[in-house]
Amino acid sequence: MTIPLVDLTAQRRTIQTELDAAMQAVIRDNAFIQGPYAATFEREFADFCQARCCVGVGNGTDALYLALRALGVGPGDTVMVPAMTFVATAEAVTLTGATPAFVDVDPSTFTMDPDDLCRKLVPSAKAVIPVHLYGHPASMEEIDAIAREHELFVVQDAAQAHGATFQGHPLAAFGTCCCYSFYPGKNLGAYGDAGGVVTNDAVLAEQVRKLANHGRTAKYGHDFPGVNSRLDGLQAAILSVKLPRLDLWTASRRQVADWYDAGVAALPDIVAPVTGPGAGHVYHLYVIQCRKRDALKRSLAEQGIASGIHYPTAVPFLPAYANMNHGPEDFPVAHAMQSRVLSLPMYPELDEMQVARICAAITDWATGLAGEE
Ligand SMILES: *Cc1c(COP(=O)(O)O)cnc(C)c1O
Repeated sequence: MTIPLVDLTAQRRTIQTELDAAMQAVIRDNAFIQGPYAATFEREFADFCQARCCVGVGNGTDALYLALRALGVGPGDTVMVPAMTFVATAEAVTLTGATPAFVDVDPSTFTMDPDDLCRKLVPSAKAVIPVHLYGHPASMEEIDAIAREHELFVVQDAAQAHGATFQGHPLAAFGTCCCYSFYPGKNLGAYGDAGGVVTNDAVLAEQVRKLANHGRTAKYGHDFPGVNSRLDGLQAAILSVKLPRLDLWTASRRQVADWYDAGVAALPDIVAPVTGPGAGHVYHLYVIQCRKRDALKRSLAEQGIASGIHYPTAVPFLPAYANMNHGPEDFPVAHAMQSRVLSLPMYPELDEMQVARICAAITDWATGLAGEE
């Protein structure tokens, strides 16, 4: 029996009947684009985030892009982005015509290093995008303080952090807004592309809503050129079935993380993930570090255990951003991470036996390795 990195089938089985009814209702009502099911999910997700507004959009990348555009970010502006994240964080900046400036990450939490943010800040900076990478909240108090001092918008990339908290507060209590992805493999995943912008600023929410719908509020009253990036009804209805379960699923992810911690934390050459002070981690991914990462990954694969690498190349070193001419010395932490990080299977339905099997395989490998040296 192989153990996948993520098992969407296991989750679907537990909600199949409700999903079928929800999807049939949307089709019966022809409520395909925005409409009542999208509006209902937006209200439910805003409540879940303890925020005033949620605007459903086409995907998480667009959530970031539309938030930046709505805040007036564009050509000539710079947006501060962590060096280790999914490429979409930087791509959203590039799409607006602004330029991303990269910031190294903290070696223990993997999120934007506030000290390096101060070092890398340029006068043209208009916004900062802290990423709650792997489900671990960024250092929001420090980043908000830096942003206030330098008059930056704080657009949080919460694509991996549905339900995460910082110092006991919901993420929406910090910064300017939170951008979510509901890509199928995320902690709250649709069955296609979907995203959302969550904020307490009703004016910002309205601007995002207009931009995402051809620059209009009235049917043919287009105030400015926008784009087409709307939440569709089927995805919204599916998300409404899943949302009431999210807290339980998060609790299960935390339980899995505890089992992993107990199983791998003391092993030679394995570094288990650290949870920073005040971080309400939601474990989108459980990421260990190992200097012989590729050999460990192969050994696990031979035993039917999948693993992932998030991410094999830090964003400044990708071909897409090669024109910026960055070297490893610019982002030493992100550069070291890219050859060491290994994501272990993580999903709410993983059971204790499976985690024990994974930990035993890692233990055998790590102790065998220690014996060789
Ligand atoms: C998934 C993800 C995105 C993009 O979301 P999409 O819905 O796939 O466009 C952005 N940032 C991070 C950190 C992500 O993990």
